[in-house]
Amino acid sequence: MSNPRPARLRGSRGRRIRVKVGARDGIRCFHCRTPFASTDDATLDHYLPRSLWPIHCQWNLVLACARCNAHKGSTLPLGLLLVLRPWLTAAQLEVAA
Ligand SMILES: [Zn+2]
Repeated sequence: MSNPRPARLRGSRGRRIRVKVGARDGIRCFHCRTPFASTDDATLDHYLPRSLWPIHCQWNLVLACARCNAHKGSTLPLGLLLVLRPWLTAAQLEVAA
């Protein structure tokens, strides 16, 4: 199931954010480390899923290839899930898993 890019992350604003995130993290997929020819080839992925943290803060955005972004969906990164597990409710764990 595709996850359409939020309106605020499309267009020139999204391009500017991708450039800033690429300068911070490198121009490659955060998840599989595949390099991009340019940030225009990348998607913006919310490190903490929008379903859990519905704010577009730049610190919560990473560059991701379309395949990794679609595969990740609304799941939490495994390392973060293990750290947060004691504080998450059963419903949040179901969304995050
Ligand atoms: Zn990837």
